Amino acid sequence: MVYSSPKDQLIFSNRIQGKALIEFEKDIRININETIKLERFSTNIELFSEAQAYNLGLNRKVCINKEGEIKNYLTHKSSFGNIMNIDVKNVIENKEFIKKWDVSNDDIEICKDCQYRYTCVSNSDIIEIKGKYYKEEICGFDPFTNNWAS
Ligand code: SF4
Repeated sequence: MVYSSPKDQLIFSNRIQGKALIEFEKDIRININETIKLERFSTNIELFSEAQAYNLGLNRKVCINKEGEIKNYLTHKSSFGNIMNIDVKNVIENKEFIKKWDVSNDDIEICKDCQYRYTCVSNSDIIEIKGKYYKEEICGFDPFTNNWAS
């Protein structure tokens, strides 16, 4: 995925290999909010396999925002320190930082019933309420009616 491109367009797609090169007008440095859309899903066997036990968006991801704050993803509230003061190696050894990596879509309410759960790379933060996991940022898809919000 290439951000800050002249226009939104699909450059290359091979559904058999599950590989695609997609350009987005969006500049991820300015607009950090993500949009989950059917056209943006691109699955392959590695992604499908990873999704069986891990969170496709967050697993092994380290984000550093423009202020230097180290996060699981740019939109998340929690910071695990500033790159100016802490080594990334120490952050990825922190159990709190990595605990969401293995909360798969199968473990998350609504997503666990979604037909796209093994290809959806939503980076939403995950909250736990009474032993159940929920995504903090709700996507526009309703798995129960198979409809996308317009
Ligand atoms: S319901 Fe969950 S798994 Fe399905 S598209 Fe939305 S965020 Fe992704």
